[in-house]
Amino acid sequence: MQSRQIYTSEPIEPGRRKMLMCVVLLGMFTLVGTSLTIPFYYETQSLWYKFGADKTLLRSGKMVGLLGAVLLCTQVVLAARVRILDRLVGLDRLLTLHRYNGLFLLLLGSVHLTLVLLPEGLDNLPIGKKYWPEMVGAAMLFLLSGLVAGAFARQLLGIKYTIWRKLHRPMGYLVFAMLAVHVLFVSESFARNAPGYGAYLLFGGVVVIVAGRKITTFWQNRRKGEIVVIEKLSENVTGITVKLPETRTFGYFPGQFAYLSIGSGHQAEPHPFTIASSPTDHTSLQFMIKSSGDWTGKVRSFRVGEIVSVDGPYGLFSYLARTRSQDILLIAGGIGITPLLSMLRFMSVNPVREHVTLIWCLSHSGDMFLGDELENLQKMIPNLAVHHVYTRAKHGSRRLDMDKIASLTSGCGRDARIFLCGPGPMMVRAMEDCLALGFVRKNIHYERFSL
Ligand SMILES: Cc1cc2nc3c(=O)[nH]c(=O)nc-3n(C[C@H](O)[C@H](O)[C@H](O)COP(=O)(O)OP(=O)(O)OC[C@H]3O[C@@H](n4cnc5c(N)ncnc54)[C@H](O)[C@@H]3O)c2cc1C
Repeated sequence: MQSRQIYTSEPIEPGRRKMLMCVVLLGMFTLVGTSLTIPFYYETQSLWYKFGADKTLLRSGKMVGLLGAVLLCTQVVLAARVRILDRLVGLDRLLTLHRYNGLFLLLLGSVHLTLVLLPEGLDNLPIGKKYWPEMVGAAMLFLLSGLVAGAFARQLLGIKYTIWRKLHRPMGYLVFAMLAVHVLFVSESFARNAPGYGAYLLFGGVVVIVAGRKITTFWQNRRKGEIVVIEKLSENVTGITVKLPETRTFGYFPGQFAYLSIGSGHQAEPHPFTIASSPTDHTSLQFMIKSSGDWTGKVRSFRVGEIVSVDGPYGLFSYLARTRSQDILLIAGGIGITPLLSMLRFMSVNPVREHVTLIWCLSHSGDMFLGDELENLQKMIPNLAVHHVYTRAKHGSRRLDMDKIASLTSGCGRDARIFLCGPGPMMVRAMEDCLALGFVRKNIHYERFSL
């Protein structure tokens, strides 16, 4: 008997996604615009006694501070893995935005501090018990600098991801709490009036979103899967198949990823991996993991029967999430094949009419781990062309350059949608080569294996 289709889902249709994005952006602009009017409509005593340039500086400082406050609230939401935002933008892009928004916040915080202090002069620095809300603000800026420095210099400083994450998250929540205290107590603008109630609503809203997300994750993690297969696919790639409870709804579309948490203690730290299986496989999820560090290096020590928490799915890297009807060009480097494999496995059951080309770059033939399956997929998808490029083979090795891409994509329309996944430098080069060959930038989608 055919099992109930519990493992499939549909991405939001591109047109609808654009419309929803416009609604989110409009809401954001309205929030920022409204906040910026506060220093005009709700003047504080500090503004009443300032004139000329001093008044302008102080008012501008307050406006910059308010912009920073709204963006800091947004910052918390961006990192909270909110499902609807993931479906609109993709978690990887939300986290990139989170990263650069952090840098911008540091800039805004510094400008705010300078502009509000300048009119007072250095003799009147707000230091002392009376000025505790101002001092909370200064301490918050100090902590924020630490957070941003940690995020951008982590690898340079040799800080392990797990340790960095353990510090980054609580520090981030602390900064948010300090922001709420600073805003609500630093001036009378946020007394029992519209801005005050608005601020409570904004901070409360962020707390509700984060708490809601935590509760959902807790609920999901209580419904765990079990490792049913661990297989050596190549020298450094391991396949892990996870069976989820039959009753559990885990809808995903091909190309999405999930956070896997296995074991306890330090080992239980969730790591992101693409779901390499197809959503049409209703019984289990497959992951292909390359040994590249602490956690991935221990994958082969996991045991069949071990319990796995799967948090997801996330991401928008899928041909199903994009407008259809053009040819599809898939370019992978090494383990970057996983999302593309999921798409191909899905296509073998749900045929596409367009021409599909897969170019898979590997160092040498010894790294190949899907030989038979790719051959089968070619039989099942008649319009699929598969090419392997061995970049470091003893004989016939060749980098994936523009000439190579041109020769392998002769049957592919220049309006093709391109899905790229592999090491950063390889993706940048391939993207530049594709653009030079006449492919269209807006049709090129890529997935980085780092968040
Ligand atoms: C969307 C996405 C899909 C991925 N799919 C696959 C896949 O299908 N197969 C595969 O082999 N790899 C995949 N990865 C990469 C994989 O997540 C990392 O290689 C793995 O987390 C490294 O952990 P480590 O402790 O072994 O290595 P480390 O040496 O500790 O870390 C190497 C780098 O991996 C990243 N990283 C480490 N831990 C985490 C974490 N808990 N959360 C987020 N990032 C972390 C950091 O950027 C770090 O600098 C994917 C990554 C992303 C973002």
